[in-house]
This record gives sequence, structure tokens and C-alpha cells, in this order.
Amino acid sequence: MTTPLIAISASTRADDGVTRLRLGVNYIRAIERSGGLPLVVPPVADPATLATLLDRVDGLLLTGGEDVAPERYGASAHPRLGTVHPERDATELELVAGARERGLPTLAICRGIQVLGVALGGTLIQDIGSERTGALDHDPPLARDSLVHAVAIDPGSRLAAILGTLTLDVNSVHHQAVDAVPAGIRTTALAPDGIIEGIEWPGDDWWAIGVQWHPEELIDSRRNADRALFDELVAKAGGK
Ligand code: MN
Repeated sequence: MTTPLIAISASTRADDGVTRLRLGVNYIRAIERSGGLPLVVPPVADPATLATLLDRVDGLLLTGGEDVAPERYGASAHPRLGTVHPERDATELELVAGARERGLPTLAICRGIQVLGVALGGTLIQDIGSERTGALDHDPPLARDSLVHAVAIDPGSRLAAILGTLTLDVNSVHHQAVDAVPAGIRTTALAPDGIIEGIEWPGDDWWAIGVQWHPEELIDSRRNADRALFDELVAKAGGK
């Protein structure tokens, strides 16, 4: 069998007058370490490009980054809305739609779970700190691999089977979260304050898992749970 090819969504940012590609290298390391071949996908203008790309890849990894533009889920901008990237939104929403159509295994991390939720008809909390009184600080000024809070995992979910546990301490680098979960989509992980930290597609026709934490920052840790998500994505992409 050939090495599964995994599309990894990336962002762009203007830097020294040049718009440059932007992606945390740990996503690439995680895919490589799990036996996949990473293919970085920037925001592109033409949906036909994405259709061609999706026909050739074996899996999709949606990564962290900017806030999703609120008009994508029928809301107006909250004062604490962060940077948005409309071209990236368009590309990633198209990638999710195409992945769903093709049943392409999809792992969605941080912004990725939010894109997945919005693509399937859900909404987002635009700023946890100001919209959820009493919520934990989900973006404390700590290293990205610091374990910040626990998540309770839904028994019987794919996520529980992959992680091999019903509770996991996770890192937390986000000020937004999934709010309304689309009908039929399973909520698989909750922080102690009720913030949604995991969702997944319930059917066997599409392996699609979203997590709000950053397992790619934890792949060098002793525990297996973080690597397991990437291992499973690559295994599913390889047809196992
Ligand atoms: Mn969190």
C-alpha cells in the first residue's frame, strides 16, 4: 500500500510585504510520525482546484488559526472577535463539504472543529471569556503544551475508543468554541465548564472527528492519546 496522502489546511499572512504561507510545523510532524504523507493546502481561489485535490488525497487535517467569520454561521461580529480570514474560511468549508461527499477521513483541530461545526450547520461562541460567565480560561498565557483542563469524553464515541480513556487532561489555546451543535452530530468531549471540546460525525459513511485542544503539540509526550488521533486518521486514510 502507498503512503496515505493527507491534505493539511494552512493559512497565509502578510509579512515584509509578501503574503506567505503559515502553518505550525507540528501538524506536519504529527502526520509524518503516524506514517502519512503531508500535503499543505493554502487558501485557494477556485473550488475546482479543491475538488481535484480532494480526488487525489486520502485524508484531511483541518488546523488551528483565525476566527471563522461570523456571517458564515448567521451571526454578526462580537466586539471580541479576533482576526478572520475569509479566503481561508471559503477554502476550508469547501474542503469539508468535499470530504463529506467523498467520505474522506477528516481530523479537525481547534479552528478545525469550529470549521467542521459551521460547515455542518452549527454556530460558534465568538469569545468564551465575555459570552460565558464563569467559564474557565481556555487561553491562559502558558506554553502550548501545558495541560490546562480536563475533558470528559462520551463513552461509546469514536473519540473514546481512539483515546482509550473517558477523561483526558488537555491543552487549551482558544477563545472560541462550538456553540450549537448541528442536528445529528455527536458531542464527544466537554470541558468541566460545559464548553464543547469534541464533536464527530455519527455514521459509518464518514470518519470525521473534531477536537478543540491541540494534540499536535503533545505528540512528544509519554501518553499515547495524542498520537492516537493522528495514527487513526492515517490508518483510516489508508483504508484500514
Ligand atoms: Mn479548552
